[in-house]
Amino acid sequence: MSDTVTSTGITILGATGSIGISTLDVVARHPHRFHVTALTANHNVDRLFAQCQAFRPSYAVMVDESSATHLQQRLRAAGLAIEVLAGPEGLITVAGLPEAHYVMAAIVGAAGLRSTLAAVRSGKRVLLANKEALVMSGAIFMEEVKQSDALLLPIDSEHNALFQCMPPEFAAGTKPPGVRRIILTASGGPFRSTPLERLAAVTPEQACAHPNWNMGPKISVDSATMMNKGLEVIEACWLFDLAPEKVEVVLHPQSVIHSLVEYQDGSMLAQLSNPDMRVPIAHGLAWPERVDSGAKALDLCSTGRLDFEAPDGKRFPCLALAQQAYSAGGTAPAILNAANEVAVQLFLERCIPFTDIPRLIEQTLENCPSHPASSLEAVLADDQQGRQFVQEQVGCTDQVMVP
Ligand code: NAD
Ligand code: MG
Repeated sequence: MSDTVTSTGITILGATGSIGISTLDVVARHPHRFHVTALTANHNVDRLFAQCQAFRPSYAVMVDESSATHLQQRLRAAGLAIEVLAGPEGLITVAGLPEAHYVMAAIVGAAGLRSTLAAVRSGKRVLLANKEALVMSGAIFMEEVKQSDALLLPIDSEHNALFQCMPPEFAAGTKPPGVRRIILTASGGPFRSTPLERLAAVTPEQACAHPNWNMGPKISVDSATMMNKGLEVIEACWLFDLAPEKVEVVLHPQSVIHSLVEYQDGSMLAQLSNPDMRVPIAHGLAWPERVDSGAKALDLCSTGRLDFEAPDGKRFPCLALAQQAYSAGGTAPAILNAANEVAVQLFLERCIPFTDIPRLIEQTLENCPSHPASSLEAVLADDQQGRQFVQEQVGCTDQVMVP
């Protein structure tokens, strides 16, 4: 590292999760280049405290108020002068801090929408892992990107791969010149070849045991249903300004090719690496430069083979549900996302079987009318509508998750 590069302050929204931890791992490899301005978490005090000790941010946010009090006591006792903020407003504050030029948006689900948008509005370099934020509010989100000085860089491995394969002048939300279509690869998750009649009995532990990636519980279940790929199709349509029929999904069980761009001349460009989220994270942090991510280099000879197959619509109905919601437009993707978030949570709590996830989402889309996504309030109202509908169908708990 040259001494001429000044250190960049980073806010990490969702620091205690899988992406947050990987981000801190990359940051720690480049102490002269990056420093941590703010870290946030929902309620994991132990982990956020340890991260504060290691990275000495100026701010720490805990959304859960009593966790914030607890963290503050521990930081004081340890002699660490870190300002602790509580509640969702704290997320918005640290997303817009003038001293943080980069914001890693790594909160899971709709809970990350407002703070991710705040980072965009404040003109940050926004490293987008929180795909649900873009899925819910695509048109509003991309308009905010255009109106602000924000630089939006995709961290989702597929979209980061596509970004890497785009022409150098490409910016998120613009039409990439010369591109015929894009191909998103999907591992197929842990149930790619499980007999269909056994899917109703699979457990949360089995669903979270992804063959190639170590991720948070929600995205792990989304990978098992392939709703993750459905959300990613929507994410790709917004990021690359493409119609859904230009976004193909191909099963690729090895997760080595992270996605491909096909150009008008028939050329296909792909990005390959070991499945390690530190690769796209390091790319987003250093772009347009390259820095060490800590990921092991890909050994092609030991990889041996790369397989591809078309996804089976019967096994993975969530993929088509997402494509339909995107085509329906307006708030339909927000309703889809809300129904999925609640259904996945109910599955993780063992209230519903795995196969009820797509069934409940389909019912929600059939019964909850969508509206033009004319404002964030309209999007959030239909998000609530979708959540409540699933809760009422299941009647397992009276909890409705509020973003
Ligand atoms: P995770 O469950 O491991 O971590 C989630 C983080 O969000 C935690 O820090 C948690 O404290 C915080 N959080 C949860 N609920 C919150 C709330 N209500 N308010 C504020 N903060 C809250 O999730 P993850 O696997 O790191 O995924 C994070 C995001 O990145 C998701 O949108 C996911 O789709 C996306 N993503 C993850 C991976 C991966 O490999 N894990 C890959 C691609 C994209
Ligand atoms: Mg992905």
